[in-house]
Amino acid sequence: MAGIYIHIPFCKHKCNYCNFYSVASLKYRDVFINALLREIENRKSYLENEKVNTIYFGGGTPSLLKTGEINTIVKKLEDSFNLITNPEITLEANPDDVSEEKLTALKNNTPVNRFSLGVQSFFDDDLKYLDRIHSGDEARKAVETILNAGFNNVTIDLIYGIPGLSIEKWNKNLDIFFSYNIPHLSSYSLTVEPNTALQIQIKRNKRAEVDEELSIKHFEILLKRTSEKGFINYEISNFAKEGFYSKHNSIYWLGDHYIGLGPSAHSFNGFSRQWNVASVKKYIESVTIDKIIEEKEILTKEQRFNEYIMTSLRTSWGCDTEHIENVFGKDFKKHFLKNITPYIHKNLVLRENNKFILTKQGKLFADGIAADIFID
Ligand code: SF4
Repeated sequence: MAGIYIHIPFCKHKCNYCNFYSVASLKYRDVFINALLREIENRKSYLENEKVNTIYFGGGTPSLLKTGEINTIVKKLEDSFNLITNPEITLEANPDDVSEEKLTALKNNTPVNRFSLGVQSFFDDDLKYLDRIHSGDEARKAVETILNAGFNNVTIDLIYGIPGLSIEKWNKNLDIFFSYNIPHLSSYSLTVEPNTALQIQIKRNKRAEVDEELSIKHFEILLKRTSEKGFINYEISNFAKEGFYSKHNSIYWLGDHYIGLGPSAHSFNGFSRQWNVASVKKYIESVTIDKIIEEKEILTKEQRFNEYIMTSLRTSWGCDTEHIENVFGKDFKKHFLKNITPYIHKNLVLRENNKFILTKQGKLFADGIAADIFID
């Protein structure tokens, strides 16, 4: 499996908690599309000999793209990469960008077949805390519009741990989600990233601090209620009905290869990771003279092992000692077994033959357990 990620770096407004690269201006929008097409042309050999199964339009705000632009980009990708027939094509959207007219055009005139809607909460006060520009009503309307347009492979994002999000309100958010029969949910705990507006607002007492304990309670409710409704928690923050796992994100979690196109986008070919410059202006300037500004890191065996532990431990497939031995060797397997065993005794990790999977309780400590297994 291999995938293509396209980063559309424009937003109408910058949300306070966001640390993705994007600019709140559409100044470079048109030239950007041309630069992107040129980058695709220049990097078409990156996934040579690999079948490409997924295309993911992320951002920023890909729903700002017109249907014609989406088709031009997809056509260029088809001409440049070895795409399978009917790849999974996901488009991220913000509720304030969703209209009946746009969705009908997307459904009828583009190959987009999966929608990811950034709802975050169905309540206005949470959305205000996050500086989002849509309302709870708009979020509901957007979900309904997407479903009415005939998209059935839909996911929404919900954030928990927001100060003021009571247990009752969190349950209500989940009730609303379940009421739509959407087959996929991505749900994250609010984290205050360094150098974000939210961090400054909290420092200046303009926003309440995030309550870790409340966040844990929300996560426990999330696990319980999604499981009761038949969702599989196939990655710590992702829940899907059978057959609706995100194929694209699974590529990241399974250590498969992907190319990232657009400013700040990351690529991985199994041995090195590289990322484009996080500036639309510099990106356009450099691509225009066929010189992409990027940074590259050749991963050591230890770094690749650590990445494998970090991503696979968070999934329902778990860490596999057969894979560790085959890819990294016997010593790495020995190291892994020595360091994971105490967590089995504490009931935080479950062993199923050669697979090691986090228990419900273990999911609360995923990062700490992974860090304990890392090799420096
Ligand atoms: S819309 Fe999404 S990408 Fe843009 S600033 Fe808000 S959270 Fe970040």
